[in-house]
Amino acid sequence: MSKPNVIITQNIQQELQKFIANNTYSKICVITDQNTKAHCYPLIREVVKGNGILIQIPAGEEAKTIETCQKIWQYMTTAQLDRKALVINLGGGVIGDMGGFCASTYKRGIDFIQIPTTLLSQVDASVGGKLGIDFTEENGNVFKNHIGVFNEPKAVLIDINFLSTLDKRELRSGFAEIIKHCLIADKQKWDVICARSFDEQDWTDLAAHSVAIKSKVTEADPHEKGLRKILNFGHTLGHAVESFYLNSKKKLLHGEAIAIGMICESFIAAKRGFITMEDLQQISSYIVSVYGKPEIPSKDINHIIPLTLQDKKNENSEVLFSLLEEIGIANYNVSVGVEEMKESIEFYNSFTDYFYNSIRF
Ligand code: NAD
Repeated sequence: MSKPNVIITQNIQQELQKFIANNTYSKICVITDQNTKAHCYPLIREVVKGNGILIQIPAGEEAKTIETCQKIWQYMTTAQLDRKALVINLGGGVIGDMGGFCASTYKRGIDFIQIPTTLLSQVDASVGGKLGIDFTEENGNVFKNHIGVFNEPKAVLIDINFLSTLDKRELRSGFAEIIKHCLIADKQKWDVICARSFDEQDWTDLAAHSVAIKSKVTEADPHEKGLRKILNFGHTLGHAVESFYLNSKKKLLHGEAIAIGMICESFIAAKRGFITMEDLQQISSYIVSVYGKPEIPSKDINHIIPLTLQDKKNENSEVLFSLLEEIGIANYNVSVGVEEMKESIEFYNSFTDYFYNSIRF
């Protein structure tokens, strides 16, 4: 997989024009959902018009399925896209992951580029070459990104201006991955974001920072054999929580679930003696100040934990976590048992400043 060109720009039209002019594509296929078609497509329409098709799929994680892929492949086939065609994924992580997966498998793979339009996809999903869709088991359990491939886009074009139409809850969801990047790789930046409220953050600076960290890690280990696993900090329990509530009224956004996962997994790190109680207190308080604290009822915990058994990092039936060694440094392949996982969710549920000031391991 050759490394894609990641460009952070204030002028998406110009960058896209340049990219298209430097290549010879037979047709251009833009994949959108109803929101990105309305808010983001107008910014690139002039560049792609006359030579392509526009596909619109339903917005949201519920659409990240094989059924939607079939519709996308159907449109591509009807439009007679050949192997010299280009797919442009214009949207958040759902479109990026699924559109990239469809492009990578259509006629054994055609070129695609990512134009991420949510903060989460700009700082995380569009970088690193992971593509895929969710899978629903016979009994209704949804496994996130269970089916997919590693493949790199030809380019990633990031324009922060897209964020102006993004819902604030979605913006906050993306911030969770920025928090994660700071916690696993850059204590200094953690201190910077921690000193600011969510509304005071500098998205352009933080996007560049996150992209640099994620690119460095994924280039060193593109197929997640080792180091790349640190990017999963907060995601083992976070994905389980996200999957469990996916089809419920209490549906959490990806970053909101990861925020919960980061608190739970920081608790495990503190219990193991990796980070200090003060670190745990700082991490938990800051995350709760941004995301609040959606309750996880005790009756749900026993259903959430088994979902970690499907985590893609597991080996020999052991659930392997990526934990903070200290703030700014993460480890990986740490085996964690069911009881410890339960305890960490109970900690998340019940901690208050008073309560956890008094905890001693
Ligand atoms: P999303 O793609 O569902 O987008 C969130 C919502 O924002 C959608 O309703 C979308 O239509 C809307 N939207 C997008 N851009 C907009 C804009 N500029 N203005 C107004 N509305 C806009 O969600 P997401 O948070 O971007 O991505 C979540 C997905 O990313 C998950 O499926 C997750 O698994 C995946 N992900 C992948 C990776 C990876 O490495 N491949 C990493 C992290 C997350």
